[in-house]
Amino acid sequence: MNFHEFGFDDDLLDGIYAMGYETATPIQEKVIPPIIEGRDIIASAQTGTGKTAAFLLPVLHNLLTSPNDEHSINAMVIVPTRELAIQISQTLEGLTYYTSISSIAVYGGTGGASFAAEKKALSAGVDIVICTPGRMIAHLNMGYVNVKQLKYLVLDEADRMLDMGFHDDIIKIISYLPKERQNLMFSATMPPKIKQLALKILQNPVGIAL
Ligand code: AMP
Repeated sequence: MNFHEFGFDDDLLDGIYAMGYETATPIQEKVIPPIIEGRDIIASAQTGTGKTAAFLLPVLHNLLTSPNDEHSINAMVIVPTRELAIQISQTLEGLTYYTSISSIAVYGGTGGASFAAEKKALSAGVDIVICTPGRMIAHLNMGYVNVKQLKYLVLDEADRMLDMGFHDDIIKIISYLPKERQNLMFSATMPPKIKQLALKILQNPVGIAL
């Protein structure tokens, strides 16, 4: 399936083609339509299948085609590691190159933006935040993060986040977010603890497996 068949915004299509993507991968074909329709999803997908673009593209499309509050974070992607945060953020920068969508990766440790720079972006408002749980909680606890109009929450590699002990951090982050939002959960495996987390977070989700 070609990307223009999803009805994507032209500026987004320019980014997709500039990145060298020609046709959608199987996971992209399955998850993009229900996300555009506004459904919550739980998808089992391994790295290397194109899962990052599978959630980024429909979220970007929806952000580009509906009015957004420029002072609030519109989408938050929570990931287990800084490496994954960097990787997703680079894909996002490519895909949004021809758009006005702004984003920031927020993670602890070396190599990222300083805490002060993150604070500035998070309080001024940035469209999409890619974050690791601990660092995001620190910012949320300090009270300046504007998530009033947040519409999309993505949990990527959810099984790995639980294995790393991030369950309570994820729940804490969600306690700061508006209840009305679309939730997208990706996990390589689906053990019972993932299903329990999904029951807590997702509303009437579409289940997707390859
Ligand atoms: P991921 O599974 O998200 O880690 O993606 C694996 C690799 O596939 C990354 O290098 C992506 O840039 C690339 N990719 C994602 N979607 C497509 C596509 N539709 N066509 C070609 N490459 C893609």
